[in-house]
Amino acid sequence: MKDKSARLTAWILIGLGAGVVVGLLQYLVLPAHVNEILIRYIHDPIGRIFLNGIRLLVVPLVLVSLTLGTAGIGDLSKLGRIGGKTVAIYLTTTAVAITIGFSLAFLVHPGANLSIPIESTFEGAEQPFIMDIFVNIVPTNPFKSMAEGSMLQIIFFAMLSGLALTAVGEKGKPIIKGLEAVDAVIQKMVEMIMMFAPIGVFGLLAKVIAGEGLAVFIPLMKYMLTIIGALLLHAFITYPSYLVAFTRLNPIQFFKNIYPAMIVAFSTSSSNATLPVTMQVAEKRLGSKESVHAFTLPLGATINMDGTAIMQGVATVFIANVYGIDLHLSQFLQVVLMATLASIGTAGVPGVGLIMLSMVLTEIGLPLEGIGIILGVDRLLDMSRTAINIAGDLMATTLVAKGEGEFDDDIYYARNRGDD
Ligand code: ASP
Repeated sequence: MKDKSARLTAWILIGLGAGVVVGLLQYLVLPAHVNEILIRYIHDPIGRIFLNGIRLLVVPLVLVSLTLGTAGIGDLSKLGRIGGKTVAIYLTTTAVAITIGFSLAFLVHPGANLSIPIESTFEGAEQPFIMDIFVNIVPTNPFKSMAEGSMLQIIFFAMLSGLALTAVGEKGKPIIKGLEAVDAVIQKMVEMIMMFAPIGVFGLLAKVIAGEGLAVFIPLMKYMLTIIGALLLHAFITYPSYLVAFTRLNPIQFFKNIYPAMIVAFSTSSSNATLPVTMQVAEKRLGSKESVHAFTLPLGATINMDGTAIMQGVATVFIANVYGIDLHLSQFLQVVLMATLASIGTAGVPGVGLIMLSMVLTEIGLPLEGIGIILGVDRLLDMSRTAINIAGDLMATTLVAKGEGEFDDDIYYARNRGDD
C-alpha cells in the first residue's frame, strides 16, 4: 500500500515533466498542423477526461464529508471557533499576499516603458452588490446549488444538515452510518480516478505548452517574473513563518506532503476541481481530521486565493504603469478590500482571477483594456497561482487542525521515515 502511493506521487511528477518536455518539443519541431492534431486528438481529450473525473467527485465529496464533519463536532461553539480561526487565517494571509505583490511590483516597475500595442478588449464583470454576496450563501434549492456547484451554498446546506443530524440524536444515527459508508466509497473513487492522474497531468501540461509556445511570454517577461517571484516569496516565507510560529511543525515536511495536490492544481488551474485531491492530501499526508478539513478546504477553494491576490496586486501596478497613471495610497487600500471581497463572491475555477481583476480595476478607475494586454500570458500564471492558492488552504488547515487537537503528527512526519 505504502509503495503504491509513493509510486503514484512519483508518477504524477513524471507526468508533469513529460508533459512539459513533449509539449515543448512538439511546438519547436513539428509543423503547426501536426502539432494542432496532436493537441486536439490526444492531449486535450486525455486532460479533460481526468479533469471531468475529479470534478465529478467534488460536490458529493464536499456534501458528504462536511455533513459528517459537522455532525462529528456537533458543538456550535467549537464549530464557531474553527470557522473564526479559518476565516482569520484566510483574510490575514490574503492581505500579506497582496502586500507582497504590491511591494515587489513597486521595486520592479513592470509595464513601465512597455511598447506593445493596446488593442485587445476585455469584457469586464459587473461588481456584485456587497450584501448579495452574503445573502446568496443561503440557498433556496439545495439541488440547484449542487447542480451548479455553488460551493458556499453547498457548505451552508451540509453544515445545517450536520448540525440537525446531531440534534436529533438516536434517530439520526442510521443516516450517519449510511453517510460514513458513502464517504468511504467516494474516497475510494478519488483514489481510483487518481490512478489516472499521471496521464491526465501529462495531457493538460502538454496541451498548454504545445499550444502556446514561449514567444508570447517575452514582451511580458517582467510582469510574469514579478508575479512568480511574489508567489515564491509567499509560499516559502509567509507559509513557513505561520507554520513555525503557530504549530512548530517542520515547513519543509509540509511541502513534501502537499506537493501532489500542488501539481494537480498547477495542471488543472482550478482550486475547485482539485478539491478531492486536496482533501485526500490533508487526511492521508498532513494528518488533519475530516472534521476540520471538510470545512476549511471547500471554503478555502472558494474564498481563499492568495496567489490570485498577488496577481491582482501586480497586475494593478502593471496596468497603471502601462497607462502612466499614479496610484494613491487610498487606491491600494481599495484594491485590498475589493480583491478580498471579489474572492468571496467567485469560485476557484480557471481564469476567474481576471474577472476579479476587472472588478478591482473598475473600482479604482483603471482602464479595463489593460486586461487585454495580460490575457495572453495568463494561462501559465493561472496555473502557478492556483498551486499557491491550494497551498494556502492546506497551510490554514494544518494550523486549525493542530490548534484544535484534530491532528496526527505521525501522519505528518510519515514520509520522513520513508513511509508513503
Ligand atoms: N484558477 C484560480 C483558482 O482556481 C483562480 C484564478 O486565479 O483565476 O484558484
